[in-house]
Amino acid sequence: MNNYFVILAAGKSKRFHKNIDKQFYNYKNKEIIDHSIEKSLNSKLFKKIVVVTNNLNHFKNKKYLKSINIIKGGKERSDSSLKALKYLKKFKPKNILIHDAARPDFSIKLLKKLIALLKSNKAVVPFINSRDSIKYKTNNEIFNLNREKAFLTQTPQAFRYKELYQLSISQKNKITDEATLFVNNNKKVKFIKGNNDNIKITYKTDIKLNKTYFGIGFDIHRLIKNKKLYLGGIKIPFHSGLKGHSDGDVILHAIIDSILGATRRNDIGTYFPNTKKFKNIRSPKMLKPILDNLDKSNLSINNIDINLICEQPKVSKYRNKIINSISNLTGLNKDLINLKGKTVEKLGLIGKEKAIACEVIVSVTKYD
Ligand code: ZN
Repeated sequence: MNNYFVILAAGKSKRFHKNIDKQFYNYKNKEIIDHSIEKSLNSKLFKKIVVVTNNLNHFKNKKYLKSINIIKGGKERSDSSLKALKYLKKFKPKNILIHDAARPDFSIKLLKKLIALLKSNKAVVPFINSRDSIKYKTNNEIFNLNREKAFLTQTPQAFRYKELYQLSISQKNKITDEATLFVNNNKKVKFIKGNNDNIKITYKTDIKLNKTYFGIGFDIHRLIKNKKLYLGGIKIPFHSGLKGHSDGDVILHAIIDSILGATRRNDIGTYFPNTKKFKNIRSPKMLKPILDNLDKSNLSINNIDINLICEQPKVSKYRNKIINSISNLTGLNKDLINLKGKTVEKLGLIGKEKAIACEVIVSVTKYD
């Protein structure tokens, strides 16, 4: 696995917004650049991930800071790309993928395909055909281009490092992608079909918001002795645990039901009936397929608000741990998760510490 991933994020993005750098703008509840960083980390395909930026300060408090390398960019895109290539030279990379941070919607499947094709090619570049008719102007004359034969190239683009490095250091003109280098030097490029969803965000209007939905979830489980207590995916020291077919995690169950509510997909029992298959299942395992489904449907969570209703344990003591855990499980920023503790004035079963209940409201947005 001698693969390296370079994310170019040093652009000024003048066409986008006058105050905020495009790559740091919020898209699907993450900064645009975070989509590329997290996806490349999750793919586990790369020895190093290098981010090229002119705003080093911005990355100071990022949770993934230790897993990536951040270097200062150049004036133009091609300067930044060359800086990354020079920086990586000492690691003797075999394969290198160059990607524009402005394309947050590429897939891990595409990364795998690009790397696989590098076994028999020196350059692999995804493209799509234009939906619009294209004209080409030269010396004041205008020509029609055959749309079928016009390639719109996308990123990530994959190369053998050695070849790309050689071409880059001898390049004089400013280029807008690395495929250009290969084409200009009559080197073979393997073009593969890209994906129309892998758009380059250029204008603010490229980010289309669709509809937002709310969902509500409620759950209650009986407390019994000799069982571990799980809340929000973590073990909490307590004299009893929650009785259930699963681990009885009321918080995660209420979150699951709220998501199913927002997406109009019935309830938790539909997906996890009380059958042998799900006996003693841990709740994070139940949450996972529900979240995968959200992702597949282009839905993403905006925020989660939780009421945990119990006399003991004290929520304030475990609030941060539980929120951290939910943040890890959902990929949602901690600031977008709220957990409130609510006692019931020692009334009823919950008041006598015989049960714990939880209610959740979630909001999700569908993106196009
Ligand atoms: Zn439950």
